[in-house]
Amino acid sequence: SSPAAFESFRTIDLRGQHLSPAELKGAMPRAETTFDAASDAVEAIITDVRTRGFTALTDLAQRFDGVDQQQVRVPQEALDSALEQLDPAVRAALETAIERTRIFAKAQRPADAEVSIRPGAVLTHKWMPVSRVGLYVPGGLAVYPSSVVMNVVPAQAAGVESLALASPPQKEFGGLPHPTILAAAKLLGIDEVYAVGGAQAIAAFAYGVQADANNPAILPVDVVTGPGNVFVATAKRLVKGVVGIDSEAGPTEIMVLADDTADARLVAADLVSQAEHDPNAGSVLVTASEQLAAKVRGELKGQVRDTKHSERVSTALSGAQSGVILVDGLEQGIAVCDAYAAEHLEIQTADAEAVAARIRSAGAIFVGNYSPVSLGDYCAGSNHVLPTGGTAAFSSGLNTTTFMRAIQVVNYNREALEEVSADIVALSRAEDLPAHGDAVSIRFE
Ligand code: NAD
Repeated sequence: SSPAAFESFRTIDLRGQHLSPAELKGAMPRAETTFDAASDAVEAIITDVRTRGFTALTDLAQRFDGVDQQQVRVPQEALDSALEQLDPAVRAALETAIERTRIFAKAQRPADAEVSIRPGAVLTHKWMPVSRVGLYVPGGLAVYPSSVVMNVVPAQAAGVESLALASPPQKEFGGLPHPTILAAAKLLGIDEVYAVGGAQAIAAFAYGVQADANNPAILPVDVVTGPGNVFVATAKRLVKGVVGIDSEAGPTEIMVLADDTADARLVAADLVSQAEHDPNAGSVLVTASEQLAAKVRGELKGQVRDTKHSERVSTALSGAQSGVILVDGLEQGIAVCDAYAAEHLEIQTADAEAVAARIRSAGAIFVGNYSPVSLGDYCAGSNHVLPTGGTAAFSSGLNTTTFMRAIQVVNYNREALEEVSADIVALSRAEDLPAHGDAVSIRFE
């Protein structure tokens, strides 16, 4: 796109204000609840997919992606040839990303907890992978082969047996997902791939789709994961409960906590890098240094003008969801970081490790000058599918346990049950559920 004038990067001045955590949260720069705006449209799409199946999917592909689709399921030959034709440098980079992400994902596998709380009373907290997952890989404004890696690797590390992947059909590739996405899927051994984008992909995974003349059925999944735009994030929120989801990984955000020791050029580059994803992306600088804020503004002007997706970046940086937050000092800066609960938080301060250790809410923290968010987007080994919109206050980025759940196994012998039988009877009476107590007493008659 053409270079765009960088309009404004708003300032929120919190200096001298003593706000409660709730007030601080309200003062954060965030887009107007985009979820509400999208939710009617997304509900209609979900209903359409549930009632009309593949016909709805191909109609929606025409409407939103501008493609005429014969087949929604990507043929094996397309996967094979995408991998054969993959640029060797991209293949090597994907292999690096896979290797590092896999090491970290395997390390996240939780150990079962087994405990004898009394002789003969054994409890086990037993982790199991879910059976089938639907993985979403975005491909609207940009295409994300990296998101194939980020979804598939932890699912495989968890031991999931059935993995399906969906990504928007691309006009320039005959209605298939982008070839680099297909190649990445093949590289990871995934052969069930669908050319479906947006909310309709999430609905297809959650409810399944019956076979038609051109497509085998899409079987419903247990868990749907993956990043996406506001339509994808909203769809995940709406199907939650029918299936599990990872987190609401919507339009991306970066917050940079920086002091006078930070390099304004690097801070600006990192803010621009995330604004490149989406005009709805949020890029926020938090600092007590007016001098640094001024330098970053200056840097942004030039960097926004010169970057490839200048217009998108300029829109994102000029939006209500982006800007500088001026704080009194480090203490208030840390409070702001926790109130915002950024998807990505960079710490570019003196003693960055000590500051990072004090943060309580963030999807991921990037510590110091040599851990930019772009590293985490591709090759750090950490996952880039992370909670946005403040949901990091209560949810985690995509990880191996996202694809697992734990079963509580109860194994008591006669003596151990007898020891608590009177307690069970007493509690069952207190709850007016005497049959509960009887089910224990009968064993000792
Ligand atoms: P996408 O695949 O998420 O969305 C494209 C699809 O959106 C289209 O196929 C279409 O079905 C649907 N759509 C478009 N306009 C619509 C409308 N008006 N109504 C209903 N549906 C519509 O790709 P994208 O748009 O490029 O977005 C990717 C997003 O993923 C970005 O916002 C990026 O920031 C985000 N992302 C987030 C993370 C994270 O972990 N939070 C990681 C990577 C990317």
